[in-house]
Amino acid sequence: MSSEPAFVHATDATHDPALQSWVASANSPDTDFPIQNLPFARLRRKVAAGEMAEPWRVGVAIGDQVLDLKIALEICPWAAEVAVHLEPLAAGDLAGYMTAGRTAWRAVRAALSEALSEGSLNGPFLESALVPQAEVEYALPCTIGDYTDFYASIHHATAVGRLFRPDNPLLPNYQWVPIGYHGRSSSIVVSGRGLRRPLGQIKPADASPPVLRESRRVDFELELGALIGPGNALGSRVGIDEAEAHLFGLVLFNDWSARDIQPWEYQPLGPFLSKNWGSTVSPWVVTMEALAPFRVPFTRPADHPQPLPYLDSATHRAHGALSIQLETWLQTSRMRKEGSAGERLMGSDTAEAAYWTLSQLIAHHTVNGCNLRTGDLLGTGTLSGPGPGQGGSMLELSQGGKVPVALANGETRTFLDDGDTVILRGRCVADGRRAIGFGECRGTVMPADS
Ligand code: MN
Repeated sequence: MSSEPAFVHATDATHDPALQSWVASANSPDTDFPIQNLPFARLRRKVAAGEMAEPWRVGVAIGDQVLDLKIALEICPWAAEVAVHLEPLAAGDLAGYMTAGRTAWRAVRAALSEALSEGSLNGPFLESALVPQAEVEYALPCTIGDYTDFYASIHHATAVGRLFRPDNPLLPNYQWVPIGYHGRSSSIVVSGRGLRRPLGQIKPADASPPVLRESRRVDFELELGALIGPGNALGSRVGIDEAEAHLFGLVLFNDWSARDIQPWEYQPLGPFLSKNWGSTVSPWVVTMEALAPFRVPFTRPADHPQPLPYLDSATHRAHGALSIQLETWLQTSRMRKEGSAGERLMGSDTAEAAYWTLSQLIAHHTVNGCNLRTGDLLGTGTLSGPGPGQGGSMLELSQGGKVPVALANGETRTFLDDGDTVILRGRCVADGRRAIGFGECRGTVMPADS
């Protein structure tokens, strides 16, 4: 693995902005899935109630279609070094492919790009391997192993700190240590699922003792999730320049949170039941190869402490960060009845929001010898931007529930109501590059089961 390129910043023919696909919808300027993207998801055709469901398989998004890799493998000739990697994918196993490493990922990406490009001799065969995205349902991309959530946005950490500690918003360790905690993977679900408003032990400020009741402060957190490809052995460390060899790709991640359960339970050991009742991931995994054109330098303000050497390198400074435009949208049940697709609540850019990069999170996570495994998920933490209105949670947008957010149809929100659907979106845009996107991460708050 050490011979493989460390940072995924080199672009190649698969990133050529002039490249077009024989799948017409992939050439539309506003699609998230042009031929330069090629993300993976685990999916199957939806069937009517009572019909036998197909086995899960892996597909690649192209425009508004999916290339079903099971059919693509059967009907089309592939080079042997590509076919060997398509076989587990065709059988629905993305995790097997995630362990294969960057050389394999690059070979498969090049082959898929060639097969889907305009003029490809494979085009006429592969047309019958296309399924409209509207006709499929998604599973989690892989079995998610351990889940760690970080706190990588200094703007989020400062805004939340200010609500709880007005005199001392940012704790002194923040600029030195990538802060994180171990979460729970069992309640991570794929986009489109509803989640019940949780019950919890809540201590109202003016009442003692605490009571068990439904949360009245259900919130979203706008994050990215990083999926680990090949892991490291227990007792080994992953250096900053090798970190991305372990990183397969990214998803959008909503770390749902109950803000009235959280303050009563989080000291001294950190978040627990306020967080583990559900998290939602987007179905499409955007690979690190696809993100190569959107790398930006890692910078630290001169008056801040510079990272310790294990979190720093010249290559990392040149290419360590990513620029992804993130947005959160809200569709209330009233908007749904009125036929509205929802309203944009906020937007931020990961390059401005994140104080720590993905490589730094991996290098820090393993510095003590902790092993990361294939399918582990690292959440970045809420990616709030520096400006007002760039908060990545209702907690920030409503200033701790004190200032209701006014919606265009006259409704207001401090936190989320039953029936509210939160939609996360992500898109990468750079001069001279074909824009790519993440699709949607969508989840709805259901009434509590009381
Ligand atoms: Mn979080």
